[in-house]
Amino acid sequence: MIKILNFPSIFVANWKLNGNIEFINQYYQNLRTDHNNCVVICPSSIFINNLKTNSINLFSGAQDVSIYQEGAYTGELSAAMLDDNKIQFCIVGHSERRQYFNEKNETINLKSMNLIKYKIIPIICVGETLEEKENNVTNDVLRKQVEECVPNISNHENTIIAYEPIWAIGTGLTPSLEDIEKVHDFIKNINKKFNKYKVLYGGSVKAENSANINSLKNVDGCLVGGASLKVDEFNSIIS
Ligand code: PEP
Repeated sequence: MIKILNFPSIFVANWKLNGNIEFINQYYQNLRTDHNNCVVICPSSIFINNLKTNSINLFSGAQDVSIYQEGAYTGELSAAMLDDNKIQFCIVGHSERRQYFNEKNETINLKSMNLIKYKIIPIICVGETLEEKENNVTNDVLRKQVEECVPNISNHENTIIAYEPIWAIGTGLTPSLEDIEKVHDFIKNINKKFNKYKVLYGGSVKAENSANINSLKNVDGCLVGGASLKVDEFNSIIS
């Protein structure tokens, strides 16, 4: 398992349903990893073996995994298959999967457990909707998501949490720096056992705001969607 505690910051690129072979070739000609941060690129899974890794600070990740181990589950991809392909990280519970594929906390917990059993680090996404934020229930929502999604076998070395306010994803909006810091502090104190977890921030991270966000005490890196598709911009986010 990758020793995530060794990295000052972790940056995860979530390419979602984007990219092709030519894009990947261009991207990797320009991607810069001459720094100490951990960089995880999560493409559509068919491209996982087209990506380069360096086993020092550049890794590949999946965007999802099956709750099943094997069998008659058309279209699924198991944790064992990811492991077979040397994948060491996997996003789980992204809000798009919760929204469009009806993914529930219980499922996210199961998926994370499957991954950890194969020494793959789940990046468990949590976050509130705009309505929940406006109703001042962000902390309640996050507590429930963290408690229900993070499996008992998780610890700060084998699991990452990503705070992604849903209203900030792909919208250009971000919480204030003060709010990000407060929420990350809240997550790390939901229970003593979360104190040392790496908690990433995600939601409209760009070159222009990443340095400020990442300098916050309780922010351990970023999960980047749209801006991770532009390699020059991603280079400036991760360095
Ligand atoms: C995401 O989808 O995880 C995300 C953070 O997207 P964006 O950076 O585009 O807001």
